[in-house]
Amino acid sequence: MFSDSELSSIKQLLSPDKNIVITTHHNPDGDAIGSSLGLKHFLAAKGIDATVITPNDFPKFLKWMPEAKKTIIGEYKRKQAGEAIYNADVIFCLDYNATVRAGIIGDWIYKSRAKKILIDHHQMPEQFDFVYSDTNVPATCQMVYHFIQALEEEDLVNQDIAECLYTGIMTDTGGFRFRSTSATTHRIVANLIEKGADPAKISSNTWDNNTISRLNLLSLVLSRIEVVNNGKVAIMWLKREELKALGFEKGDTEGFVNYGLSISGTRMSVFFMEDLYEDFIKISFRSKDDVDTNQLARKHFNGGGHINASGGKYFKSIEDTIEDFKNIIEKEDF
Ligand code: 5GP
Ligand code: MN
Repeated sequence: MFSDSELSSIKQLLSPDKNIVITTHHNPDGDAIGSSLGLKHFLAAKGIDATVITPNDFPKFLKWMPEAKKTIIGEYKRKQAGEAIYNADVIFCLDYNATVRAGIIGDWIYKSRAKKILIDHHQMPEQFDFVYSDTNVPATCQMVYHFIQALEEEDLVNQDIAECLYTGIMTDTGGFRFRSTSATTHRIVANLIEKGADPAKISSNTWDNNTISRLNLLSLVLSRIEVVNNGKVAIMWLKREELKALGFEKGDTEGFVNYGLSISGTRMSVFFMEDLYEDFIKISFRSKDDVDTNQLARKHFNGGGHINASGGKYFKSIEDTIEDFKNIIEKEDF
């Protein structure tokens, strides 16, 4: 948590006469959108207006969240996003550890004269004016809740805040399953339910909102899943032409990588996907226990993340990328 002196400086900054912008990472997920909107609703409960800006669009299954549609999406509204960031007094940086992770708005955030407040659970954060970083917390949404507690304003938590924060905790813990899901997480989740988050509604909105294209893509990916390293590593992939042929929509492949980990005996799962527009391969890594995908992604695949969930990019053909990956992990004994 922020120190007491940081908290009192932050309290000073949180006032209705300040321009407050909330930002999150490229390809926002449930935790990114949930923490951003949850914080926005918390500030609104304090009588403070804040603008949420994402670098690019986010999946439809997150658009049910209260005020999700008021988000300024940088890739569609460059000018408005740029001006809001330029005029900001305070910028919250949620669920990312380095401004490059904020895609097209990252550079504007970096150059902005605003006070920057980081709340994030990824490894090795960059310098920001105020940093609350904790890799042991499973979701940035949980950290936003801790921040509200530290401000002694838990009583302001209303249904909008609760729904948004619940969503991010639910998605980043894989439905309260992943290993940093703690008793504290569950206590917070219990509070959020009491404040109006409805577990059945939220999980249904988030997970029972599949497109047909998603199921068709999943079917293809699962039909050719490959297991290497004595059954320890699962590999999946999709090509651009396949995405196009099956009618890919944003968010369709979210979570595919987790299926590899559900195979008995696997310790790591990797999903390779040709980017739809640019010439690179987007890679997602997931692992169990102490198998460190963050190091692997940082060292070899221009990325990073958490120990058990990270991502990266690779600038070769998909065949060569998979070949290189296999060679890199061949000697590893997971
Ligand atoms: P996903 O596989 O869902 O895209 O990402 C999993 C995790 O890795 C997320 O926490 C995300 O922030 C991180 N991550 C994904 N892609 C990248 C990347 O290109 N660079 C870095 N540093 N982290 C990434
Ligand atoms: Mn997160």
